[in-house]
Amino acid sequence: MINLQNLIRTNIRELISCAETKAEENVRDSQHIMLDANENPYNKPFNRYPSDDQIELKEELAKLKGVRTNEIFLSNGSTEAIDMCYRIFCQPKVDNVVAIEPTCELYKHFARLNDIEYRSVLLDEEFQLNATELLKACDKHTKLVWLCSPNTPSGNLLNVEEVEKVLKGFDGIVIIDEAYADFTRLQTFRERISEFPNIIVLNTFSKAWASAAIRLGVVYAQEAIISIFNKVSSPYHISQLTQEQGLDALKHRYDIEDWIKILLLERKRMILAFESLACCEKVYPSNANFFLAKMKDAQSVYDYLCKKGIHVRECSNVSLCGNCLRITIGSKAENAEILGILRYYKPTK
Ligand SMILES: *Cc1c(COP(=O)(O)O)cnc(C)c1O
Repeated sequence: MINLQNLIRTNIRELISCAETKAEENVRDSQHIMLDANENPYNKPFNRYPSDDQIELKEELAKLKGVRTNEIFLSNGSTEAIDMCYRIFCQPKVDNVVAIEPTCELYKHFARLNDIEYRSVLLDEEFQLNATELLKACDKHTKLVWLCSPNTPSGNLLNVEEVEKVLKGFDGIVIIDEAYADFTRLQTFRERISEFPNIIVLNTFSKAWASAAIRLGVVYAQEAIISIFNKVSSPYHISQLTQEQGLDALKHRYDIEDWIKILLLERKRMILAFESLACCEKVYPSNANFFLAKMKDAQSVYDYLCKKGIHVRECSNVSLCGNCLRITIGSKAENAEILGILRYYKPTK
């Protein structure tokens, strides 16, 4: 059993208890005369502050994902949600977090930014999690565990039983970043939030939903956790334009499903092609819209591609990823282009 109140930072706990005593704000309506927020009456429809509870967008998402609106918090990209997890739960210089390694670099970045000790636990050679090893790295000051599935830069899903062991064996918050989950048909932890009072699942509109420009992330958790996010979030942090575009994306979700289908077919084609390249040693299995390829000389291939105006991610500095490139699945034309160019690559050594 987790004790949510004890997990929250002291200053946040105090802030929340003040917020609770505040009177319910009057609901504003565009039919009313609104002279309370120092807005400008001109330049409609951009003159007003946007909806602060983003209820329309949450209702659409709730319908689609089979959760309640009070189990959703929207963030300015999931990047903002990652930062908020630190600010809500972690006392600088006192608390620590434990994360898998390698994984998304944002978790470490925001640990540094918030002055929180970041402990990483190496995955195995197949980028799999060992729950017992991870739990050994936790102590009484560990507030958060960071998991990412499908993970980056490896592309694989974490073993479900190991993730469950972490969720059950750790009495702090377990964050599962499912930014790439829409690229897999397997069950996600987002669908299981009612089972785990200590789970936070992160989703984003930036990847499968093809809307990175609007900066929209989604946090799914039980109501007790979501209500904390609501109380500490910056006012009006989701712009009107983002809310409208987010709703629009949800209305066009059949297009998005088509895009995902094409990207998955392209991923299969790209991986087969890479496996047959002389400069490629192996490709790791992927459940995302990218794949990790171990090359004979990653730096040389990377430089060659750069000269041809093609950007991929060089991962040699990442744990367990020596000589690896991470390649995003692009459009059919872009994928054909990189494959064509790589056929002319000549090793420099
Ligand atoms: C892209 C990505 C993010 C950041 O998503 P935004 O919503 O664009 O901020 C977070 N986590 C992972 C694993 C990602 O790949």
